[in-house]
Amino acid sequence: MALIMKVRKTIRDAIWTKRWSTEQVHKYVGNFRKCYFTYATDSELREGAASGGSVTGLLSHLLTNRAIDGALVCATDVKDNHVNPVFTIATSLEELKAAQGSKYSAVFFSQHALPLIKQFSGRLAVVALPCDAKILHRYRQLNPGVDEKIALVISLFCGHNSRPELTDQTVEELRLPGEALISFRYREGHWRGNLQAKFDSGREVEKPFSFFSDYQNLYFYSQAKCHHCFDHVGYYADISAGDIWSPRMRDEPIKHTALVTRSDHGDAIVRTAISDGALQGREEPIAEVLDGQARTLPFHYNVTSRAIVGRLFGMEILARTEERVSLPELLVALLALLNDRVSRSPIGQKLIFWIPRPLIRLYLLILKGLESL
Ligand SMILES: Cc1cc2nc3c(=O)[nH]c(=O)nc-3n(C[C@H](O)[C@H](O)[C@H](O)COP(=O)(O)OP(=O)(O)OC[C@H]3O[C@@H](n4cnc5c(N)ncnc54)[C@H](O)[C@@H]3O)c2cc1C
Ligand code: SF4
Repeated sequence: MALIMKVRKTIRDAIWTKRWSTEQVHKYVGNFRKCYFTYATDSELREGAASGGSVTGLLSHLLTNRAIDGALVCATDVKDNHVNPVFTIATSLEELKAAQGSKYSAVFFSQHALPLIKQFSGRLAVVALPCDAKILHRYRQLNPGVDEKIALVISLFCGHNSRPELTDQTVEELRLPGEALISFRYREGHWRGNLQAKFDSGREVEKPFSFFSDYQNLYFYSQAKCHHCFDHVGYYADISAGDIWSPRMRDEPIKHTALVTRSDHGDAIVRTAISDGALQGREEPIAEVLDGQARTLPFHYNVTSRAIVGRLFGMEILARTEERVSLPELLVALLALLNDRVSRSPIGQKLIFWIPRPLIRLYLLILKGLESL
């Protein structure tokens, strides 16, 4: 048995492990200091986490040491069977825990987060998606008062985000007539994890995260802005945090978060959290992170493929990364933009959820296969 496992691992590593040139690392990851694989030592912080709970572990450590007075995070509000991601400033461990997990539905940082940041009078850490970390970066340049109170910016890695309709439709697929949704979590638990929905009838439903993410990964209901974006890893942060999808981590009993530090300050915060025992973890080569994002990251970075294909759909996308484009990349771009387009029409929306799930899965496998070429 041990031998079979070893052979399986060797074959898997040989297939998945790529060589990344210094130039590729630089363009995909941007400037960085170090890379760590970590998880929150407190097991309670890992229960509701998207990955290893490291983001919450870091914020909790900073709050406890009074290095910050609050952290801008994104919680969930459920109303009329609708799941709304809401920015809030957490000032306690309980509030941090309540906001754990990834919210795969559009957030409006300029309208909702910036006013909160502006009004808050203490030292703040901010968790934001890469595009929102960039908005904050620009806002700080124009507002020295705001700049002074930001102690740390953590950006989540981001493949793309979805319009709220995808979550609405997912809820409708799970809800029985007459029931009202009372809570919703996109994913928690090991590896890809499970989605959870609770209803006022007392019924709790748990489904593999793929129940939602198969549609998301096919770019159905994608936010339009994501087709223009090439920042997968949060260039404007002190620390970037993401999942680790490299095959060897699948066998780890505890799920980890990848932390990429970009400033000396961010690196010191991660090191101190590890040495104080708030996080468990170790430094790892950056190639490990890239291996785990080997399909989505190059596609995300290559805006040129979407700029070329976008013309077919009358979309003006600026080829800001000026990458070379291969035929498989053009095909993936075509499918991504087409699927998004289909999900914007009422007939298309009906069609998407009428197609049997195994066919959706097969379609996703084809898309992932093309991404790997
Ligand atoms: C839309 C989206 C797309 C993502 N795409 C990828 C990807 O392609 N590859 C990858 O490796 N990782 C991706 N991630 C990041 C990943 O899902 C985890 O968030 C990350 O690994 C941190 O996990 P953790 O357990 O350490 O964080 P946790 O301890 O669970 O804490 C997460 C923190 O992020 C905050 N948060 C959640 N959603 C949002 C949001 N939308 N905007 C601002 N703050 C938020 C929470 O409030 C919480 O404070 C994505 C996350 C999101 C929200
Ligand atoms: S893909 Fe880019 S634009 Fe879209 S949500 Fe993520 S960081 Fe923002």
